[in-house]
Amino acid sequence: MNDISLFLTALKFSAYKHRNQRRKNRITPYINHPIEVAEMLWKIGKVRDMDLIIAALLHDVLEDTETMPAEIEELCGKHILSIVQEVTDDKNLSKQQRKKLQIETAAHKSILAKQLKLADKICNVHDIIHSPPHDWSMKRCQEYIVWTEQVINELRGVNSDLENHYDVVLAKAKVALN
Ligand code: NDP
Ligand code: ZN
Repeated sequence: MNDISLFLTALKFSAYKHRNQRRKNRITPYINHPIEVAEMLWKIGKVRDMDLIIAALLHDVLEDTETMPAEIEELCGKHILSIVQEVTDDKNLSKQQRKKLQIETAAHKSILAKQLKLADKICNVHDIIHSPPHDWSMKRCQEYIVWTEQVINELRGVNSDLENHYDVVLAKAKVALN
């Protein structure tokens, strides 16, 4: 399958899987987020690896929907599945363990997964300022962005455009939350 064909197939699949979900601001349809992460990789990160762009569209499907890994493998192949799995938390662990593990494992991820994590965190920090979770206090938003900083500091050295953009968005978030 050519790149655009697979891209559209993955986008349709992800939109269907996330069809009943909204972001935590309770307004934005969930699918906007994976699209924004793919756009971040393409426009800011200048990523042209289509497996990574397609993995971005699917990056929250295993974690946040009822999807089985075999469905992604069948649709997009083993490589895209492996990138998605690398950025998927183990839901059997507590939220606190998952947060800690993200910091501890970030440095050991593949270069592709590191860039996907960067784009995901950029979008989430941006959302914390512009469309925050509806029930989060200022303190909780501040704690969230500090945690992203800890994760990102473990995976630097893979894409300077994304890393510089993360720094800009983080600085804006710190001002906005002060
Ligand atoms: P979550 O991990 O539950 O939520 C953050 C995630 O939600 C993001 O990483 C993002 O992930 C997704 N998301 C959806 N909508 C938005 C949005 N509009 N803006 C930004 N992100 C969005 O929350 P926490 O990071 O707070 O993690 C839970 C931890 O917080 C636990 O350790 C718990 O103990 C602690 N906690 C803290 C409280 C406090 O007041 N400080 C209160 C309760 C718990 P994705 O891209 O994957 O969708
Ligand atoms: Zn995400």
